[in-house]
Formats: sequence, structure tokens, C-alpha cells
Amino acid sequence: MDKIDLLLIHPPAFFKRDIIFPGPIAETVQEVTDQFLAFPIGFISIADFLYKRGFNVKILNLGELKSLDLFKFFSNLKADYIGIGLHWCIHSKGAIDLAKFIKEINPNFKIILGGLTSTRFHYEIIKEFDFIDGIIRGEAEEVLLDLLKRKSFEDVPNLTYRSGDKIKVNPMRPNISNLDDLNFTNLDLIMFKDKIKSSIGKWVWNIPISRGCVYNCKHCGGSSYSYKSLFNRNKPAFRSPEKIIEDIIDLKERGIKRILLFQDPRIAGRNYWEKLLKLLTKLNIDSLTLELFYPANEEYIDLISKINFEVTLTISPESGSERIRFPHGRVYSNSALLKCVEICGEKGVKLTPFFMTGLGEEDEESRRETRALCEEICRINTKYLKIREWFNPVFGPMILLDPGSLAFDYPELYGYKLIFKNFKDYYEGLSLPSWHQWISYETKNYSRRDLAKNMLEDLEFVLDLKERYATDSSVEGYLLDQEYLNLERYNLYCYKIVAEELENCDLNSLMEAYKNRFNEKILPKLKYGEKFLEAFDRSIGLIA
Ligand code: SF4
Repeated sequence: MDKIDLLLIHPPAFFKRDIIFPGPIAETVQEVTDQFLAFPIGFISIADFLYKRGFNVKILNLGELKSLDLFKFFSNLKADYIGIGLHWCIHSKGAIDLAKFIKEINPNFKIILGGLTSTRFHYEIIKEFDFIDGIIRGEAEEVLLDLLKRKSFEDVPNLTYRSGDKIKVNPMRPNISNLDDLNFTNLDLIMFKDKIKSSIGKWVWNIPISRGCVYNCKHCGGSSYSYKSLFNRNKPAFRSPEKIIEDIIDLKERGIKRILLFQDPRIAGRNYWEKLLKLLTKLNIDSLTLELFYPANEEYIDLISKINFEVTLTISPESGSERIRFPHGRVYSNSALLKCVEICGEKGVKLTPFFMTGLGEEDEESRRETRALCEEICRINTKYLKIREWFNPVFGPMILLDPGSLAFDYPELYGYKLIFKNFKDYYEGLSLPSWHQWISYETKNYSRRDLAKNMLEDLEFVLDLKERYATDSSVEGYLLDQEYLNLERYNLYCYKIVAEELENCDLNSLMEAYKNRFNEKILPKLKYGEKFLEAFDRSIGLIA
């Protein structure tokens, strides 16, 4: 293998672990699995930016490559710098354990972390983990260019690093203002592409409309507040509609069939979205998903309905209670949302609503309101759509609070109580085996245990809804749905049993019980006895 200047690695969420019980952790993003194998889109822009300036940069997605002999790979690797992504906090454990593993193989590699989570905890991570050499805070393209040219951490902006027994925090540099200079589709820079089994990068890909957001949803690490405080970006920068269209055409040529355009084009203003939608009507691709940050009016939905390929809209009211939704950062009424659902139905445009379990001020009344709103959306849909796939309300269990979000920085203000308060808490918390132990906060009204229970209850509610509103009218389709629904219900039941058993018994004893399943002395010690053994089989996520 040729020498690499920089190898960018997306770590698996859990690296070299014996056992995890991921439960519903990836409920809303099932394609990425419980290893969260989709890497941040910034990996491509960084790698392409450096590649175009003459450096050999590759991307390695270790969430995908279970079969790779890592010891052999890193022993043979010749690279100056290894950049490990620590953007989403779910990778806190995987990123650190991977860095340690690589450094033990070759102490000469310079290991750098980057991304939202490592930016928020830069000082603590450098202080705690001596096998990590540096952390890039904020956006990384030009910082890494500087580093690769100088081959020294000194005076490279945005870097936090160890110098002797001191920690140095270099000042931030201005961000790239013209995002059209960046590329987000150069998938050729991904290593071992032929070994990738998931759909990500094969026929599904995301492209951004902007960097930054104008909104301040309290739990979001990509909010206006977070971009200002962590990334030094005071207002969003938008990519031109022409550049986005270029990306879409390029992705089509690369065999990508489903594209998510993330961020709502309307936040860039009328001229922008009009131009983008006009250009989209000239394309012929398979399917595109567009986000709505607030309900769309008839004019907008009408333009979407005129696009020649399948467009799905998504909207995230999070709560069905305006009392909860407004302070959370989504300031629109239920009636505006229902009107949007109705217009989408009339014009035959798919709309997927997302709700969230575990918001700060949530209580029993707001949970009832959320269910009622979700059911009302389903009722409206049945008037217009008869196909099973078109009814797809989603309830996402929050589980981990984004470090760097307003809710993380000011928890009491928004109804949260942090259990994970610093990076070590995230790292150690995610070292526990089960998803319910990863819930990183409590709320004003619910303990961690209550939140876990609510999350499973809400997922069960969605299955009930699907049963009532989303089954095919054909007998065959109906039976198929019943099988799927029964299986999903059984999964939820298993998550509950394993979580409860782990509350009463440590993992080693449970493992012992599992291994000696025919030992009659052990079974009576378990609260759920044989049911636990079945649940264990179904809930287990990974044996490395
Ligand atoms: S969740 Fe809210 S703050 Fe975050 S990107 Fe979406 S609209 Fe912006």
C-alpha cells in the first residue's frame, strides 16, 4: 500500500466489545445499524479538499468492515496522520478504544480526533487520553491542509494538543465561506468500497444544503447556538442550487438511487428554494428526500408535486403538544401541521412525521397529545393513500443528549438533568452493556428508568397505529404485516426483559446463566427465567 498522508477513519460505535444490547438505539436510522456506520458528510469534503491539493487522503469506514484484519492492516499501514471522527456522541467509546488500539500497534502514528463531540470536550479528551495527539475544533478542511503542509501541530489553528506536560489550545481560524469550493460526492476516496454491505454509499447518500442552521432546537448539536459556540460559524453558509444539482447528477452516475438533501431549502429564502425546485423539475432520478423545518404551504407542496421523480418530505414536530414543542424550538401549531398533511395528501406527496420520546418538559399529558396528533395524521393519510409504505410515522427514542446543544449546556432551563456531564461520563456510560444504561439524562418528570419505559411504550404505540392504519387491504399483504408487527412487538418485549434483568443482576452473572442455560440452579435466580434466555438471543447486538 502506498504511503498515506492522512487516513480518515469513521469508527464503529462500539469497538472490540464482547456484548451489547442496543435495543432501539438505531430505531429511526435502521440502515446505519447499531454501529452507526454512516460517516459525517464532512469526511468527503475534507478528503476531497486535500486530495485536490496533492495529498494522498483516504477514508476508512470501520463501522462497515467487520471482516478486516485490523491488526494486520494497521501494522502494514504507512501514514503520517490518522484522523478519527468523533462527531456524534454515540461514537465516544468506539473512537477512543480504536485510537488506543491503533497507537499500541504503531506509536509513531499521530492520532487526531475531530467532530462535534470531540470539539465540545477537546480539553478533557486530550488531558485524559495520552494516546490521542490532537483534536481539531470546528471545521477541518483548511486546518488539515495547514497541518499536512507544516507537519507540526505548533501554530496550526483550531488545534488542541499536548506539548510536553502542557495542553495548548490554538486560536480558531475563519471558516470557509464559499461552500461551493467543497465536494460532497467524491466516493472514490472510500477504501474497500467493494466490501461495503450496507446501502450507505452504494445506493443511498446524503448531501447538505448548508453548514449551520437558523434554528435553535434545544436538543440539537447542529443548531445555530452550537455552530456559533463550537464551530465559530455565526450564520449558515449555503451551497448554490446549481452545485446541489451537479451533486445529484454525479450521484446518479455513481449508482446512488436515494438521496437525502438535508436542511430545509426554505431557510435560505424564497429565491433560493424557487430556483432549487425549478432545477429539480428538470432532473430524472430515482428518489429524493427533503426536510421541512416547519409546515409547508400549498404553493411549496404544489411545486414539489410537479417534480418528475419520487420526493418524500419529512417533518419533525417532535411533540404533539404545542406547550412542549414551542419552547423546544419548533414554533408552529398543530393546525398548521395538519393542514400541511392534508395538502400533501391531496397532491399525492409523501410526508413522514418524526416524533421524539424523552424531551425535557414532556409529561403524561403531552405524551397523550403526541399520540393523538400522530393518530390524526394517520387518519388524514388514510383518506388519500392506500399503500402500506406511505404510512410511516416515526417515534425516535432520544437516549443520548447531544453535547454542545442548548439542552446539554443549560439543562435545568429546558427540563433536563444530566447523567452524563462530561466526556468521561459518555465514555464510561457507553461502556455499559445495554441501551437503557446509555440514556444520558433524566428529565423534570421522568427518571432514566421511566424514560426507557416510555421509549418502548411509544414504539409499541407506533406498531398499534400501523396495525390500525397501515396494513395492506389485500389478504396476503395483511398477513405479511401481521408477521412483521408480531416480530417487532416481540423485539420490544425482549428489550424490556433484558433491561429489567440487567437492573437486577450484573452482566457476568447473566452471561453465566446464558452459557449454562440447562443448569437448573441458575434459572430460578433470574426474574424472567427461560424468557430471559430467549430475549438474550434476540437482543444481542454484537460479539466481536
Ligand atoms: S434539529 Fe433544529 S436546530 Fe437542528 S438542524 Fe434541525 S432545524 Fe436546525
